[in-house]
Amino acid sequence: MILLKGAAVSARLKEEVQGLLDGLPDGGHVPTAAIVRVGERPDDISYERNVIKRIAAFGMEARSYVFPADISAAEFVREFEKINEDEGIDGILLFRPLPAHMDGRLFERLIRPQKDLDGISPVNAAKVFAGETDGFAPCTAEAVIEVLKAYGIQIEGKRAVIVGRSMVVGRPLAMLLLRENATVTVCHTKTHDLKKVCREAEILVAAAGRAGMLTKEETAEGAVVMDVGINVDQSGKLCGDMVWDGLETVAAAATPVPGGVGAVTTAVLAKHLAQAAWRSRQTEGASGQEA
Ligand code: NDP
Repeated sequence: MILLKGAAVSARLKEEVQGLLDGLPDGGHVPTAAIVRVGERPDDISYERNVIKRIAAFGMEARSYVFPADISAAEFVREFEKINEDEGIDGILLFRPLPAHMDGRLFERLIRPQKDLDGISPVNAAKVFAGETDGFAPCTAEAVIEVLKAYGIQIEGKRAVIVGRSMVVGRPLAMLLLRENATVTVCHTKTHDLKKVCREAEILVAAAGRAGMLTKEETAEGAVVMDVGINVDQSGKLCGDMVWDGLETVAAAATPVPGGVGAVTTAVLAKHLAQAAWRSRQTEGASGQEA
């Protein structure tokens, strides 16, 4: 069984980003992301640290914008709009869920689609749905595609089964796999005979967020297993949705947790930042030429 390691995929994405940065016109600011956090959730803080590190490693900048959990909704909208309109900011990552007194959906609509690094805006969702490539897909969903491509795994014509239908992973990933000409099935808690459906998968994506819910019993001979789940097991260790016991006897390849898809997510985010900067400067150049 081939271990599909995220580090190798991230290295490839770093080269891609470098190509985009090399193509930026001289004299502009370094592509800069705003990481917007409300409150002090430990998970958010640790992810924020990883994002900042990754963006710096890819030769760009990230600034944290941290607001107290009790900031009023109206005040946060005002602050968010300032970041949205700041020309020194090329991309925005907004941590969610927001505190209960705020309407998270409002910010999906407020965020400028051109700066929407994690594909939360309805405009970007529509582009992903339509199979267009000039928007931004949610980073984790795209990370799955990046891993498959980096390892030269054929997607076209393959039967892909995704367990999970969230707006962050399952649904957008279904669209991205469809764009690559896979035949896609999306499973959820009401799916009948999940085991049978999973065993039909040539590419099996576990994105339910349930430690140990899928095993070699749900895996077809020769399947490629993409484990998106990030869970903590009973001993406090990070683990995915797949049980690894004996998986190597059936699967052709699998992503480890940690060190698989999760490790690529921040690299995709950095790629989106470079793309956002590149696209906005192309647009500026074009309008300059017209003027
Ligand atoms: P959600 O909880 O939003 O969605 C989980 C999905 O899995 C739902 O569609 C749910 O079905 C389905 N599901 C849950 N249990 C079962 C079951 N027993 N049988 C069939 N389907 C089931 O989670 P997310 O999509 O946000 O995240 C999924 C996992 O991916 C989590 O472990 C999360 O930590 C991880 N993740 C990893 C990221 C990364 O960077 N690698 C980023 C984002 C998430 P239903 O709709 O019927 O409830």
